[in-house]
Amino acid sequence: MQKVTILGATGSIGRSTIDVLLRHPEMFKVFALTANSNIDLLLQQALICSPEYVVVSDLKYYQQAKELFAQSTLNCEVLAGNDALELVASDANVDVVMAAIVGAAGLLPTLAAARAGKKVLLANKESLVMSGDLFIQTANKYKAQLLPIDSEHNAIFQCLPADFTYGDLPASGISKILLTGSGGPFLNLPLQDLSHVGPEQACAHPNWSMGRKISVDSATMMNKGLEFIEARWLFGLQSDDIQVVLHPQSIIHSMVQYLDGSVIAQMGNPDMRTPIAHALAYPQRVESGVAALDFNQLTDFTFSQPSKERYPNLTLAIEASNAGQYATTSLNAANEIAVDSFLQGQISFTQIAEVNNECLQQITSHKLDTIDEVIASDQNARRVSLEIIKRINPPAMLRTK
Ligand code: NAD
Ligand code: MG
Repeated sequence: MQKVTILGATGSIGRSTIDVLLRHPEMFKVFALTANSNIDLLLQQALICSPEYVVVSDLKYYQQAKELFAQSTLNCEVLAGNDALELVASDANVDVVMAAIVGAAGLLPTLAAARAGKKVLLANKESLVMSGDLFIQTANKYKAQLLPIDSEHNAIFQCLPADFTYGDLPASGISKILLTGSGGPFLNLPLQDLSHVGPEQACAHPNWSMGRKISVDSATMMNKGLEFIEARWLFGLQSDDIQVVLHPQSIIHSMVQYLDGSVIAQMGNPDMRTPIAHALAYPQRVESGVAALDFNQLTDFTFSQPSKERYPNLTLAIEASNAGQYATTSLNAANEIAVDSFLQGQISFTQIAEVNNECLQQITSHKLDTIDEVIASDQNARRVSLEIIKRINPPAMLRTK
């Protein structure tokens, strides 16, 4: 029986994780569930999963959560704040931590799980984008097992040879990693219309149902950019080792191309319960609730190259990954601010890339050797991006809109 903590239980990945866990009560028991503020859903989930702890990270909701849980039949402890997230991620009773908080907020609890030598199921790609080398070093030092949840990285992991050598593709007989992406909802929209699309259109992904931040990132393909950086750290890759391939149907989740010309692809319906079940049960296989692919129904199966004009964020992310840690940390922070402003109607869709680009231009190279330096760099890029947003769209203009 493995005890599981789900960081970000109330989100899209968190809910899918609970769905898979409940199918296998003989294998898994929930130790802790965490939410930022959605305490009603947290209570519902707790009533089904009977965790030992729940954590509400936003302190504003703590009192309310305590009262809500006290009125229930549950016998679980209600904790609050960021320290509590780290506590339930590293508790000695925990075997597996699902890291499914969105954004930079996921870094410290995910790192705490790695430092405690847990089996870490990594959905929070931002942790690796922000702190790649430090994160991998920590996982290695404390013998944490890092299993990718991002469908592409999970696919690559499944297509790699069992004796894969980190950082050396030729030694493993591999010539390229083919990272696939759907191109998002605006793949075929005329370029001049991109600046007019709103949050609801950007969040309406054609194949995947996801949280709002990653949905916008998929539409700008910043998500693929973050995944490019994530893949470099997870598998020890050089920039040239990876080729991004558009595959709008999202049936192939990524591929590994071998020196002899073989290409191994991992396929399945676009449903995150497959990579979640794979990582939870690894190296076994268990049912996930995802329907098998029906090849009689797969009519289109197409591939193309992503356009630089349509997806400037993808280029920015690849360039940042070549520039170094300071650049990917700053880009991630800028992008979180820009996406948030877009979702709040303060900047246009195409201005997300403008903010990201300008922020990177303004920030000069600096070393990030410690987590405190990573966090300071993240905070600085947030300040710079907010200034840029204020300049391109001053509050006075917002009021007259
Ligand atoms: P979501 O927005 O649906 O859920 C986010 C979760 O994080 C919620 O439980 C929320 O309460 C919690 N959270 C938000 N802000 C927080 C804060 N400041 N402190 C503590 N907790 C906070 O997001 P999601 O789509 O489930 O994505 C989660 C992570 O998984 C992201 O890093 C995303 O990139 C990654 N991911 C998601 C998918 C997907 O299909 N949804 C696929 C691949 C990777
Ligand atoms: Mg992905």
